[in-house]
Amino acid sequence: MVQTAPRTLEEQRFDIPEIGTDEGLLRVEACGICGSDCEQYEGVLPVPLPVIPGHEPLGYIEKIGEEASRKWGVREGDRVVVEAILSCGKCELCRGGLRHLCFKDGKSFCAYAYTPVATPPSLWGAYAEFMYLDPATVVHKIDPGLPAELAVMYNPLGAGYRWAAEVGGVRAGDTVVIMGPGQRGLASVIVSARVGAKKIIVTGLESDRAKLELARRYGATHTINVSDDDAVDRVFDITKGRGADVVLEVSAYAVQPVAETLSLARRGGTVVLAGVKGMKAVPDFVSDKAVFKELTIRGALGVSSSAFRSAIDLIESGEVDLAAMHTHSFPLREVDLAIRTLAGEIDGESAIHCCLLT
Ligand SMILES: [Zn+2]
Ligand SMILES: [Zn+2]
Repeated sequence: MVQTAPRTLEEQRFDIPEIGTDEGLLRVEACGICGSDCEQYEGVLPVPLPVIPGHEPLGYIEKIGEEASRKWGVREGDRVVVEAILSCGKCELCRGGLRHLCFKDGKSFCAYAYTPVATPPSLWGAYAEFMYLDPATVVHKIDPGLPAELAVMYNPLGAGYRWAAEVGGVRAGDTVVIMGPGQRGLASVIVSARVGAKKIIVTGLESDRAKLELARRYGATHTINVSDDDAVDRVFDITKGRGADVVLEVSAYAVQPVAETLSLARRGGTVVLAGVKGMKAVPDFVSDKAVFKELTIRGALGVSSSAFRSAIDLIESGEVDLAAMHTHSFPLREVDLAIRTLAGEIDGESAIHCCLLT
């Protein structure tokens, strides 16, 4: 399914490429849909068109060259997930465990789903039956016994590990505020609970009622409906005026929560900014609050390899009821409906995690 213009996807056919010794071919089984898919669909991301989107692939190795098989540690028939980012593997970021920040070609980031079909061999995205696997690919094996719609959650769960544990440094006994109860907010709840956070407070809107309830099932100790309540007042009540050790801002579009993070964090606390706002500036961002509290403010983009591995281990463990978060599966041809469902454009549908099943 090729995106040819904003909000326009059409079915097209491409030849299956010849696979060299350092390449592979994935038979796509499922592809997760997240907020970035909605932005790409809207046309707000600077992606050259036409392009095959789909950056959260799950599938089977259909073909693989000898060199790639040795380097990636997989063989034909293995079930794998594929990291979206294609990195150089040599620069200081790659060597320092930050391959998700590598600009492979030195100018812009290089990734599946954001490489146009004009670049041979065209099959760069997972809204497809087959996806080309470039020599720079990183794959992770995943248990072939898992239901596809759960296995494909490696991406939001990986974000939970990256944002809450690795970047936020959430530890046992901490108080954590998670602003935004979408896939990634819920994943952050799951991870915070697993590392032993004592108080987990999640904020959302009236329309997020079902997601806030699910947050409680996953270990949130408090939920705040900010349509009715002031988040800062409530967090100060709950923490007896202390504030949170870690504040994770994972909401989409809204900029007000970013300003509030500075009030919600305790003195010496950490703020993680991971919600993308379409390059909008944040009004009422009082930097003095960060100075006087000596806050650590960190951005978080995407998922590290180590966080992907942690997410896969969690899915394979079966210890968390992830099925409760999965609300919708769609066939590949209905990708348009899948995206609009996740974006909340379909009346009567309240989506949390959506995926395509090829
Ligand atoms: Zn995504
Ligand atoms: Zn690199």
